[in-house]
Amino acid sequence: MTNLDPRFLRTQGYINGKWVDATSGARFMVSNPADGTQIAQVADMGAEETREAINAAHEAFPGWAARTAGDRSKTLRKWFELIVQNADALAALLTAEQGKPLTEARGEVIYGASFIEWFAEEAKRIYGDVIPSTGADRRFIVLKQPIGVVGAITPWNFPSAMITRKVAPALAAGCTAVVKPAEDTPLSALALAVLAEEAGIPPGAFNLVPTSKAAPVGEAMTSDTRIRKISFTGSTAVGKVLMKQAAQNITKVSLELGGNAPFLVFDDADIDAAVEGALASKYRNAGQTCVCANRFFVQDGVHDEFAHKLAERTKELLIGRGDQPGVQIGPLINAAALTKVEHLMADAKARGAIILTGGEPHNQGDLFFTPTVITNVNPDMDIANTEIFGPVSALRRFNNEDEAIALANDTPFGLAAYFFARDMGRVWRVMEGLETGIVAVNTGLFTSEVTPFGGVKQSGIGREGSKYGIEEYVEIKNVCLGGI
Ligand code: NAP
Repeated sequence: MTNLDPRFLRTQGYINGKWVDATSGARFMVSNPADGTQIAQVADMGAEETREAINAAHEAFPGWAARTAGDRSKTLRKWFELIVQNADALAALLTAEQGKPLTEARGEVIYGASFIEWFAEEAKRIYGDVIPSTGADRRFIVLKQPIGVVGAITPWNFPSAMITRKVAPALAAGCTAVVKPAEDTPLSALALAVLAEEAGIPPGAFNLVPTSKAAPVGEAMTSDTRIRKISFTGSTAVGKVLMKQAAQNITKVSLELGGNAPFLVFDDADIDAAVEGALASKYRNAGQTCVCANRFFVQDGVHDEFAHKLAERTKELLIGRGDQPGVQIGPLINAAALTKVEHLMADAKARGAIILTGGEPHNQGDLFFTPTVITNVNPDMDIANTEIFGPVSALRRFNNEDEAIALANDTPFGLAAYFFARDMGRVWRVMEGLETGIVAVNTGLFTSEVTPFGGVKQSGIGREGSKYGIEEYVEIKNVCLGGI
């Protein structure tokens, strides 16, 4: 196992610039999903510590907001540089607690850092407006001001990047933040705080409350009127709970929720490119991303060729511990995740799915599942209607373009969609017809800090990254300046 740098292996929460234990002294275990071994015992905080963190963020807010944008920008830039300098150590920690291959973990650390770099720049571009006046004695001005203290709750599948995607724009805008990382992966979050401190982010501006008791921490955030914004990434079910709770104080919410991404392959597609796109989209993080291709729809004329080629390439994927060289598929995050995939496979098999490769757990360890390709999927199968979150490609056929678009949109979710086609008219029609926040055409990879990330329908509200991301953290103030 890779040695973990003790400088980054923190086991206490981070509140008001101090490393602190839970008041109760409670701790919870963080383990390596590759082999179940314990990595750390982390402070198990609750509502009380969350309120302390909110106090700290509330006190720090006026001072941080009053700094010049240039000053905030330089501090964030420093944080970005420190993360990049320490990317290898952070990646090792991320792989240890999350399981993804080291190259993916390093990619996530750099991707996560890119949001800090981006928003360090955007801090200087939060422009207001001057609106042409309707009266000679007055002027209309629009100010954009930081919204206040932000409560952020993040998932385990991107333990580093889901935090920077929220905290970087919040801090850039002049907000302060209280973050609850996922129970399975608090260590990458705590390591980010080590470097935030070193970069000069002041006490109280960025607080971390690790916990195994998500609900009371979420309630402490949503019930506190000093929290002016909840930013959540996770499942749609929990997103609904938080939105309901946030309604009591009309707290603004941004929600990055579950996906059910369609992946369409048309007769005119470059099939080899579609196969490579499918591999990149489906098997990243062992199929555990919100934008993983979840439902493959393949046109009749190319179905068998695509299925065969995808199965052959899927067989070549190297499965193993994320810290071993060349590994492409690591373990699933926990036992519940494996059980879910096993259930979906058993149900699909019982209802007539054909397994081209895989279909079972893998003997690397308790949480590994063999990369799988199945065909003959029909809408009655659970796998056709569920976010799989595992390395299973489930293929259905379609006959024509209208049918493909209807199938793709036949879901309450609308985060990402992929399709492969070469006819320009078709590319435009399908791109416009898909009901998702993101459409990837002829590629399996699209994420970048410069483009807006987010979903429609039950996949969420709001956008992260890009020039739009900062808008989630500012309020618009209309000033009417009279007596001129
Ligand atoms: P989850 O169960 O919703 O958990 C996400 C976060 O919410 C975790 O920190 C979790 O804490 C916390 N949480 C759970 N119940 C809560 C409650 N009652 N109140 C407050 N917080 C609560 O989701 P997950 O299984 O970790 O993540 C996978 C889901 O996230 C998938 O649906 C995926 O599509 C989605 N996701 C979406 C995006 C996006 O950008 N749209 C990105 C990544 C993932 P614990 O860890 O302690 O349970």
